[in-house]
Amino acid sequence: MIISMRPHATREEIEHVCERIREFGYRVHSIEGEERVVIGVVGMGDVTACLESLEATPGVERAMRISAPYKFVSREFKKEDSVIKVNGLDIGGDEFIVMAGPCSVENEKQIMETAEGVAKAGAQMLRGGAFKPRTSPYDFQGLELEGLKLLRKAKQATGLGIITEVMSDRDVELVAEYADCMQLGARNMQNFALLKTLGSCGRPILLKRGLSSTIKELLMSAEYIVAHGNPNVILCERGIRTFETATRNTCDISAVPVLNELTHLPVVLDPSHAAGKRSLVPALSRAGVAIGADGLIVEVHPYPEKAVSDGAQSLTLDGFRQMMRDLQPYIRLWKEMRSLETAAVA
Ligand code: PEP
Ligand code: MN
Repeated sequence: MIISMRPHATREEIEHVCERIREFGYRVHSIEGEERVVIGVVGMGDVTACLESLEATPGVERAMRISAPYKFVSREFKKEDSVIKVNGLDIGGDEFIVMAGPCSVENEKQIMETAEGVAKAGAQMLRGGAFKPRTSPYDFQGLELEGLKLLRKAKQATGLGIITEVMSDRDVELVAEYADCMQLGARNMQNFALLKTLGSCGRPILLKRGLSSTIKELLMSAEYIVAHGNPNVILCERGIRTFETATRNTCDISAVPVLNELTHLPVVLDPSHAAGKRSLVPALSRAGVAIGADGLIVEVHPYPEKAVSDGAQSLTLDGFRQMMRDLQPYIRLWKEMRSLETAAVA
């Protein structure tokens, strides 16, 4: 069950509702949104009696039964799309958002050149890892604090918002100081301690689907972040592991419309980690626009052959410019479709 309080419900009213819920034998999870407090009701008890009683309690706007195990992120709970604000951008709104940059921040020249190049080509955010989750402990692990400082410099030069990965709950505070959006990588999608910490980090989160995770598991992980107080979650499909070896991962294009049915959260597509191969990135990006993703997160490097990670899947700056040009007709159609959808909902 979910209890949505009226926009100006008083503290006493909220406390009273929580007490009533506990009297019915349930536990309470409340979320303070910008406009209202929403209370998640967890546990076993008499659902019908509890709903009826709460509907008649002062301060309550709506009491709903939710059948999905992920309550707060479900469409059942919230019909309208969530729009997440990141550095002045609306993600999930009526702009198609492109985040671009290298897999790893390597040095000042590399990140500044990339930031300026992708900004000119039309990207709205800069990606770049300072803490890198590498399969081998002998591979480059990231510049850490120095990398974060370089990202800040790139932001100052271009105005691009920064998205960068956080790998451990130890680093959340530090990364939050530099990032406009915190990326939670595929390998950490079910790091429950980290998910909980991100609930109170004060930054939007881009949550990537785990290498072998189902859509339901992705939504349960998003639910962790929201249930711990942070409603600003963007989901990311980045390809999953299958028997196919022609691509690094299998781009699960259908995850985008499936997620759009199941959740109100924005969904972006990462064609780079899905493909593992530069030549496939433009086609997958077009697919992402066509199928209704809210944006893309793409790897770009000025000299991919010298990249310390994921060079094979990184577009050159020229390749990215070309792709952005080629995407424009698709993005125009995307905007038309989006405005028709918005008009239909209103
Ligand atoms: C990345 O974005 O560079 C990355 C490591 O992605 P993923 O977690 O999807 O593998
Ligand atoms: Mn990468």
